[in-house]
Amino acid sequence: MQIYPINFYKECNKNITYKNKDNCQSNVTFTSFFDKFHHIVGETTQEKYIKSLKNFVNPDYLKLEGVQNGIEVFDGLSARQILSNLRDLLYIPIVRGCHNNCTHCYLSAQPHVVRASFEDFKSFIDGHRELNKRLQVDFAKKKLNRNEYVGLFYDSDGSDLFLRDKHGNIHEFPELNRMQYSVTGVPGLFDTAGWNVRNKSIQERMERFVQYYSDKENYSTEIHAINISVNPFHRIYAKSLEFGKTGEIEKSKKLRQIYVERMSNALFTFSPLFKNDRAHILARSFPDSQKGEMFDGVRKSDYKKLVSEIYSDFKKKLFQDYTGQQKYVKSNLDLLLIDDAVRRGLLHCDTHLEHLGRLLDSFKDLLVSFEMLDSNVLSNISDNKFMSFIKRSTFSMIDINGRVYRTNAFNSYKTDTCLNYKDMKNFEMDFLPKPDKKVIKYK
Ligand code: SF4
Repeated sequence: MQIYPINFYKECNKNITYKNKDNCQSNVTFTSFFDKFHHIVGETTQEKYIKSLKNFVNPDYLKLEGVQNGIEVFDGLSARQILSNLRDLLYIPIVRGCHNNCTHCYLSAQPHVVRASFEDFKSFIDGHRELNKRLQVDFAKKKLNRNEYVGLFYDSDGSDLFLRDKHGNIHEFPELNRMQYSVTGVPGLFDTAGWNVRNKSIQERMERFVQYYSDKENYSTEIHAINISVNPFHRIYAKSLEFGKTGEIEKSKKLRQIYVERMSNALFTFSPLFKNDRAHILARSFPDSQKGEMFDGVRKSDYKKLVSEIYSDFKKKLFQDYTGQQKYVKSNLDLLLIDDAVRRGLLHCDTHLEHLGRLLDSFKDLLVSFEMLDSNVLSNISDNKFMSFIKRSTFSMIDINGRVYRTNAFNSYKTDTCLNYKDMKNFEMDFLPKPDKKVIKYK
């Protein structure tokens, strides 16, 4: 009997293909396959392997109870509390808050930054690894998490992602992402809206980042996507618009130039990644049809003017490098490839902005009707159906204090699960979507 597992997580809920002794191919659901042939296949290695996956994908929490005993970070939590959240872990932010203070930030990130404790983060990784061992599940190989990526951020910028341990050592994104990948098996995501060009330590950190992911092996196994966000919403550009409106033209021009330089520097620094299609541009603006004074300066036509300045500054840097130091551009082929990737990325501007965070006020009417719909639906739903919604439509996020939330783009829920973090257990910072009053109980 041959079994062709492609992706077990998906197969468990869908079909599994096998050949019977007459060499006929059949399709049955994974669960019925397992039940039907359990007595025939016996305890082969393959069956043990399938069983361990079945335990994880559709676990019998009562039977698994105790598997977590003695793992400090999970102390006091039930198997259900832990396992229900690990299977669809989407965010393990290591930093909360963001200095960029973008006007559109759909997460309404707080403008001050708080860092997780490296020791807390490590205790989670070590605990997860020990659990994998006991469950005989190798996440990294079996792709058991249902998400395409895990973000080490929630409402912060990629250029800010590093931790300092108790001895003062700095742990940068590639190392931390490798740690999370080694236990979840899910590649990481990286987004940045640029950084202050005069900040030498961030610049050097970003250069080390680029160097690390220029290695094909590191990139292809550990990373889902690397993005640079270019848009007319950044605080610096927004401030330049404000000065423009009050007639302070010189100040307005100066800030605009700072934003242009910031973004052209980020694009230039990421050149080696653009060359190999390993970095992408997320460009956003409002459509030109968007009415209202508050959208002046952030429509697509404004975006076009802004990026033409960014692009021309970027090209200057690229040529200077090619004709001088050749740090990134060593040949005319490099020049063509990098230029092509950046130009294409800047040209494609997304104007469908569904989640507008700080700009939501202008969409109040629409939101009121949604909120009413949400609360009506929720008050009439049974607990089982509600939990089924939570399981299917939300993902878990472990805040830097160890609290686990379930969230998607529209709703967030606090759960009764909190990891035993030591250093940051008293930390609290709001986030969007604001958690509902209802607490998800797994215990
Ligand atoms: S949109 Fe992103 S970069 Fe801008 S403030 Fe929010 S989290 Fe920071």
